[in-house]
Amino acid sequence: MKNILIAGAGIGGLAVGALLAKDGYNVTIYTQNDPVESAYDWEDSNTTRLVEELTGVTLDDTQKGVLADNRYYSPSEKTPIETSFGGNPPEKMERKLLARLLTEYAENNGVQFVLHTKIVAAVTDNARVTGIRTEDGQVFTADLVIDACGVDSPVRKSLPDACGIEQNYAAGEVFYAYRGIYNKANDLPPDEHAYELYLMHRGEPGMSWFITEEDSTDILLGRFRPFGQEKVDAEWKNFKKNHPQLGENLLRGGTFGKIPVRRPLAKMACDGYAAIGDSAYMTYPMSGCGIDISIRAAYMLHACILADKDGAFTTQTLWKYNYDYICRHAHLPGVDILKNTLLNLKPEKLDLLFDKRIVDANDLSSGGANAGAKELFGKVGRGIFHLPTLLKTAKAALAGGHVAKVYKQIPAVYSEAQFIAWKRKVDKTVVVLKNP
Ligand SMILES: Cc1cc2nc3c(=O)[nH]c(=O)nc-3n(C[C@H](O)[C@H](O)[C@H](O)COP(=O)(O)OP(=O)(O)OC[C@H]3O[C@@H](n4cnc5c(N)ncnc54)[C@H](O)[C@@H]3O)c2cc1C
Repeated sequence: MKNILIAGAGIGGLAVGALLAKDGYNVTIYTQNDPVESAYDWEDSNTTRLVEELTGVTLDDTQKGVLADNRYYSPSEKTPIETSFGGNPPEKMERKLLARLLTEYAENNGVQFVLHTKIVAAVTDNARVTGIRTEDGQVFTADLVIDACGVDSPVRKSLPDACGIEQNYAAGEVFYAYRGIYNKANDLPPDEHAYELYLMHRGEPGMSWFITEEDSTDILLGRFRPFGQEKVDAEWKNFKKNHPQLGENLLRGGTFGKIPVRRPLAKMACDGYAAIGDSAYMTYPMSGCGIDISIRAAYMLHACILADKDGAFTTQTLWKYNYDYICRHAHLPGVDILKNTLLNLKPEKLDLLFDKRIVDANDLSSGGANAGAKELFGKVGRGIFHLPTLLKTAKAALAGGHVAKVYKQIPAVYSEAQFIAWKRKVDKTVVVLKNP
C-alpha cells in the first residue's frame, strides 16, 4: 500500500488521515505538538453532526451547544443590525474534545503519529514533492505529502515555483486574532443577541466580538496587523465601558493565533502534494471558520486518492479534489470581495450603510451572492443621496454572484494552459484590502 505523509496535525489532516488509514494506506502524521494538548482551550463554532458522522461517536447534550443570535455594529455602534438564526442556530463544541475525537479516531484506524517534530521545508525532486525536512535535518519521504500545517505552512512556503502553487499570502489576507474568556463581574443574563460583532471596530480594519454567556464573557479581536497584550488590555478597558459584566480574570484562552480570511488557493495540489485546511486557506472569509470546511475537504481528498488506483498522485490525478473543492465553495470568494469592499470604506461610510440598512444581514453572510434586483432596488431607494457609496457596495454585491460563476469555470480536467487561463480570470475578481 502507498505511503502517505501528513505534515501537521491540522483538522483536515487528522480527518483525511483517519479515512485513508481505514482503507489500508500507511499514514504517518508528523507534527510539532500533541494535537490534543495544543488544541485551543475554548468552544468553537462547528457542526457537531459532521464530527459524529466521521468518528462514529455520539455526543451527549453536555458536549455540544448552540450559538446565540448576532448583533452587528458598524464603527459608530449607533444602529446595530440584529440577525436571527431562526430555528437553525450554528452549533459549538470544545476544540479539545474535537481534537481528541479526531486523534483517537485516526489512531484507532492505524495512523502513526510522530510528535514533537518541527517541519521546516518540503523535499522535492524537480516539480514533485517527495517528502519533508525537519528542523534537525531529517528527511522523511512518501508517495504523497498532505499539507495540514496551517496558514504558515513551511511546506507550502518552500514549494518550488514549478509546482504552480501560491506560496505566500499578502498583507490583508490573514487575521491576527486574540481570544480570551473572562469571568463575569455581575449577574446580567445573556440577551437573545448575546453574540455582538463589531465590524471595523473603533475604526480599525478588522472585527471584534463580545459574547455574554451565562457564567463567562468572551472577547475576540481580529486585525490585519500583528498586535500584543498591550492592545488586548486597551480593548478590554474599552469593552468594559459598555459591558459591566466583563470580568478581570482570564479563565481560558488568552491565546494569539492567525486566521486566513481570503479566497482559497486556486491550485492546492501538484505532483506528490495536496494542501488541506488553513494551509490552503479553507475558511469562510467573513467569519474565519475553517473546521467544517476542513472536514468536508477531507472527504473530497479521500475520494480522490481512492480513485487514483495506481497511486500516481500527480496534479492530474489529484485535480478532482481541487476541482470539487473550488466548485463546492465557489460562493465564498464573493464573501471575501464584500468583506474587503466594506473594510475599504471610510468608517463613516460603513456607518451610513448600517444607518440606511443598505447592507443587511443577508449581505453579511452571503457576500451578495443572493442579491436580487428587488433587494438592490430597495437599497437604491434608501441610499439615493449617497450614490457613490451605494454603487460601490452594489457592485461588490453583484460581483458576489458573478465571481461564483467565474470560479465554477475551473477546468474539470487539469491542463496547465487551461488552468492559467482560468486563474487569470479569477485573479481579476480580487478586491485588495487597501490599508490593512
Ligand atoms: C482565535 C481563533 C478562533 C477560531 N474560531 C473558529 C471557530 O469558532 N470555528 C471554526 O470553524 N474555526 C475557527 N478558527 C479557525 C480554525 O482554527 C481553523 O480554520 C481550522 O482549525 C483549520 O486549520 P488547520 O487545522 O488546517 O490548521 P491549524 O489549526 O493551524 O493546525 C496546524 C497543525 O500543524 C502543526 N504545525 C504547524 N506548523 C508546524 C511545523 N512547522 N512543523 C510541524 N507541525 C506544524 C500544528 O501543531 C497543528 O497541529 C479559529 C481560529 C483562531 C485562531
